[in-house]
Amino acid sequence: MNASRLLGDRRWPELDGPPIVTLLVPVGSLEQHGPHLPLDTDTRIAHAVAQAAAHAVAGGSVLVSPAVSFGASGEHETFPGTVSIGTEGLRTLLVELGRSAGRWARRLVFVNGHGGNLEALGTAVTLLRAEGRDVRWFGCFPPGGDAHAGRAETSIMLALAPRTVRLELARAGNVAPLAELLPLMRASSVRAVSANGVLGDPAGASADEGRTLLAAMVGELVAVLAHRGRPYLPLPCNSSSGISCSAAVSEP
Ligand SMILES: [Zn+2]
Repeated sequence: MNASRLLGDRRWPELDGPPIVTLLVPVGSLEQHGPHLPLDTDTRIAHAVAQAAAHAVAGGSVLVSPAVSFGASGEHETFPGTVSIGTEGLRTLLVELGRSAGRWARRLVFVNGHGGNLEALGTAVTLLRAEGRDVRWFGCFPPGGDAHAGRAETSIMLALAPRTVRLELARAGNVAPLAELLPLMRASSVRAVSANGVLGDPAGASADEGRTLLAAMVGELVAVLAHRGRPYLPLPCNSSSGISCSAAVSEP
């Protein structure tokens, strides 16, 4: 038995036969995370949660695909380093990925690390389910976490990849509730509400707190995977707007 849970480590005969695999697909972003966190923060977090959950499920039938490392990050594009493929680009990618992996995987779970990806995830999952595939998405949103590059993400990165964190450069950004900031962010950019790109305050971040937040997210994903006998049935969806559809598929 191959102990690795990484799809890329497998050879095709290991996956031949009746479909038994649940494939976790980490979905992240490449976008600014303040002056102190790396651009691929969301991707690293989604991948870490997926990998830990895959190892926590006995039997080796849960595998982790290479991450989708670009997301819908238009609101961050005024910060250099950010690369966004937009909602439509991401939706197309996820749909085609789901159709292809669905030829041999029994179930697909997109493990998402970036809030800006939600519209693409909602519409892609709705379409894939309507086509009869067993697909859902899971959000890596730490309980009680702040919005972006604040205490939660900084803590998690201190736990996952401390050498990538420049704590001496960490500063508070805009600490207003995200709901208050969203209209201006959507109309303009994150830079319009936060000069350093941080939404929250990294003060007090610690690796210990990061490990606690990670464990909570991994536990949630493992609980989702435990419902393995219950297929994620296609949901009725007659809207192409994505808004009602994404709401419909966001329940566990
Ligand atoms: Zn992030």
